[in-house]
Amino acid sequence: MKIGVIGAGQLGRMLALAGYPLALQFRFLDSSADSPGGQVAPIVTGAFDDPQSLERLAADVDIVTYEFENVPVSALQQVSQTHAVHPPVDALRVSQDRLLEKQLFEKLRIPTPPFRAVESLDELRAAVRELGYPSVLKTRRLGYDGKGQRYIRKPTDVEAAWSALGSAPLILEGFVDFEREVSVVGARSTTGEVRAYPIVANTHRDGILRVTLAPHRHPTLQKAAEMHLKRVMKHFDYAGVLTIEFFVQRGRLVANEMAPRVHNSGHWTIEGAITSQFENHLRAILGLPLGDTAPVGHAAMINFIGQLPPRDDLLGVPGLHWHDYGKAPRPGRKIGHCTVVAASAVERDRLVRKVMRKMPR
Ligand code: AMP
Repeated sequence: MKIGVIGAGQLGRMLALAGYPLALQFRFLDSSADSPGGQVAPIVTGAFDDPQSLERLAADVDIVTYEFENVPVSALQQVSQTHAVHPPVDALRVSQDRLLEKQLFEKLRIPTPPFRAVESLDELRAAVRELGYPSVLKTRRLGYDGKGQRYIRKPTDVEAAWSALGSAPLILEGFVDFEREVSVVGARSTTGEVRAYPIVANTHRDGILRVTLAPHRHPTLQKAAEMHLKRVMKHFDYAGVLTIEFFVQRGRLVANEMAPRVHNSGHWTIEGAITSQFENHLRAILGLPLGDTAPVGHAAMINFIGQLPPRDDLLGVPGLHWHDYGKAPRPGRKIGHCTVVAASAVERDRLVRKVMRKMPR
């Protein structure tokens, strides 16, 4: 069985690594020949929206999936004429647009921050009057890791935010004074079987995920997160891994966004859960029984952003797992991560502090 993966970033690389014990083979499609996936499987190089490159990928594989969200929907529609494509193209379409995403959350009765679509400065002024200060202006499309967003804290911020982002369709969101950020990752198989991982607590800086602590034990939030996840999965007749990121506000989940793919906040599952999110994504799209999502201890995942910490020093931390994506260092770029797993949350937190002392400033 050969799996075609659109995108050859670190997520694709980890998917392929999880698939080899199942005797699966992989081909990637990526615009860059030296993307991380290329270290473990061949890359068809070409633009994601170039029909010929997509045909070259499809000609060589049995089934197609994707590891990155900015694949043009038209490209996936083309491939789905001849191949099974999972997760569903419609889930990708909705996740690409923050407005459609929030409208879907509303429709499925999943709490989400108040929002308004904004297409002009006048609409922005009206939306700020309704949602108040502070609020967050975001581009509807192509925003990730905090890119394409501006906080509006006072009246003079309105025009500045508009001139920074106003050339694209926008959404204004009410600011959520959250206690913490959590996410849920789960898989739904083509057979309809669903399994969710425990929710995890995420810390961001400059809009980029830094640390995930897993599990975040909270039975009420877990129940709500799984209910929301299943609703979205059912809506799309979903297959594959799906992630939803939430704010916790006054003890309640408020959905921020969804990703129809394996997710950075699920990397801890490689060593911290019985079955990793990557293996479960593959099982799900192939209609195989899903693996156990139970944690094997208390895990922390720490992202390496911009530059790697000293490897040999970190490998001296007991039980630490090192993941170097083989990417060139660049400010703000995710180039690797490490995971620690411990028998207790207290011991895990001690290991995290140890790792943090060794991280570049
Ligand atoms: P996003 O690109 O939507 O994932 O946003 C990146 C980060 O910005 C989030 O993880 C939050 O820390 C923060 N953020 C985004 N939207 C809001 C909001 N409506 N209220 C408060 N913080 C937000």
